[in-house]
Amino acid sequence: MEESKDWRRRRVRFLLTKAERNLDRVTKDKEFWRPRFCRAFFDWCDENAFDAPNLAVKRASMAVEIAEKTNDRHLVCRAMGLLVSGHRMVSEFEEARIVLNNALALAEGCSCCLCDLYRRKGLLHLYQADNEEAHKFFNLAIAEYKNIEDTDGVGRTLVSRGISHFYLVGVDEALADEDRALQLLSSETPQIFHLAALNNIAGFLALGDERHFSRVSQHLANFREKLKGVDGFSSVRVRLRWIDGLVLARIGEYRRAIQMLENAQGALLRLRQDPEVVAISADLSRLYYEKENYRAINRVASKCLRTIDVQGKVRSLLERLASFAARETKRTLDVITSLRAAVDVPVPCLIEAAKAPKFTNPEPLAC
Ligand SMILES: [Zn+2]
Repeated sequence: MEESKDWRRRRVRFLLTKAERNLDRVTKDKEFWRPRFCRAFFDWCDENAFDAPNLAVKRASMAVEIAEKTNDRHLVCRAMGLLVSGHRMVSEFEEARIVLNNALALAEGCSCCLCDLYRRKGLLHLYQADNEEAHKFFNLAIAEYKNIEDTDGVGRTLVSRGISHFYLVGVDEALADEDRALQLLSSETPQIFHLAALNNIAGFLALGDERHFSRVSQHLANFREKLKGVDGFSSVRVRLRWIDGLVLARIGEYRRAIQMLENAQGALLRLRQDPEVVAISADLSRLYYEKENYRAINRVASKCLRTIDVQGKVRSLLERLASFAARETKRTLDVITSLRAAVDVPVPCLIEAAKAPKFTNPEPLAC
């Protein structure tokens, strides 16, 4: 029994790799038209929507096409939900609404379809800044997920409800949702949901006060422990260490914060995640700047230039950072700030946020 389950999982993973290499085959080859593959492909679409928002609609349309070939109404509903999110990601709100209404008609009171559709309807409202409607639908989605005892689905919804909670009630309720989400999400859930929860925690913390820090630090440590050795989670664990370092810096524990970030930077280098390496190097430089350790900043910048492939604006900022640090000028700080802003990564810069009194937008991530 266990063995055949394992075999099926390997088979789906094999098909996904094949699909990634040549996406157009998915709608052409019969071997992909299976419920099990469909479900994995749906998760893959969710996972990759943020990497390539402009491709999300195309991929979701393919998901609808293969779901239709299985003649499974529930799968078609799920795929249409993806298409709703695809349109939403490129701000095609009217198209999203039309697909959503069609999907809701097809769902006909079925909890397994409604849960996902209500969650995505909530997201649609959230992205249009209608937090009250969003909150209402997140709650409806949670009720439906509970109906079918899908705790992972409750977790996925809580990641987003944290955001509506944040805008409607406050940072405590928002953190509680994200906290609970991380407990409920399974290790099989697409990483983007874990990352979104972490991103939101970090963002909310930047707006919260110190009484949250020790709790979240503890939570991050537990979560890291839980993910130890779990396949495919190395980059999430590194980000946890990174956020932990930033939280430590916020409470003034610079030595441990620097240790944590140095360690995470090394891991990101090994994972070859170049934009993240640049961003964390900027965060590290910022901490060293606080300690007036220009020599360390120069070392961090030179290491980036030596070990990763950076071009254009980011490269020239790194070169400037190395040379300003060598001259020990106060203008080093401006370069650090520009460098951090030049790369787009899901870990917000807590230190910047804490220093900017007018910081009001934590740029929450809802998926
Ligand atoms: Zn259903």
